[in-house]
Amino acid sequence: MTESSALSPVPTARRGALLKFYFGPMDCGKSTLALQLNYNHGRQGRRGLVLTKHDRSGGARVTSRIGIGHEAIEVTDDLDLVKLVLSRPAIDYVICDEACFYSVRQIEQLADLVDEHGIDVYAFGLASDFRSVLFPGAQRLFELADEVCRLQVEVLCWCGRPGLLNARVVGGAMVRTGEQVVIGDTDVSPVRYQVLCRRHHRTGDLGDQTGQ
Ligand SMILES: [Zn+2]
Repeated sequence: MTESSALSPVPTARRGALLKFYFGPMDCGKSTLALQLNYNHGRQGRRGLVLTKHDRSGGARVTSRIGIGHEAIEVTDDLDLVKLVLSRPAIDYVICDEACFYSVRQIEQLADLVDEHGIDVYAFGLASDFRSVLFPGAQRLFELADEVCRLQVEVLCWCGRPGLLNARVVGGAMVRTGEQVVIGDTDVSPVRYQVLCRRHHRTGDLGDQTGQ
């Protein structure tokens, strides 16, 4: 392999591939958009791979809250994403749902897929955890992505302000300490998550919870 420099010509096949990161709180339609994007690219004859981690279904699937789904490859902690994608024939793009949960190394592998192999990568995920602190994977995406988009699908706090942050709720009360990743909103988990505006995330006010 020859060494490349800033002055090396860019091979045609590699020109234009992008790493894009779409982020937003829960319920803002990230998985729905991921599946729509996969559908649109597939219709144009492009070959894609769909990855996820900790999907709400608990399985190797991307599922959206409005009821659509697609089979996916579960990203385990030690999975090498470059090797995975290159093991498939002629992949044009990769959809990465729940990318906030991928490791920093795996996010860097996504950048490698774009830069070294001309494969488009569309990553979707939360930006910050229940403490309003960035997930390491999301932080790396902010640092490396060619384009970053905040998803604008309206998601509201109970007070009507824009929902920006995810609160972790245990036993009806918001908690601010604990493991960064705890799966919630399942039948077996005592943990649930609620989207709040910044003001109510700071005060821990969950509003009237009788509807939960
Ligand atoms: Zn609020």
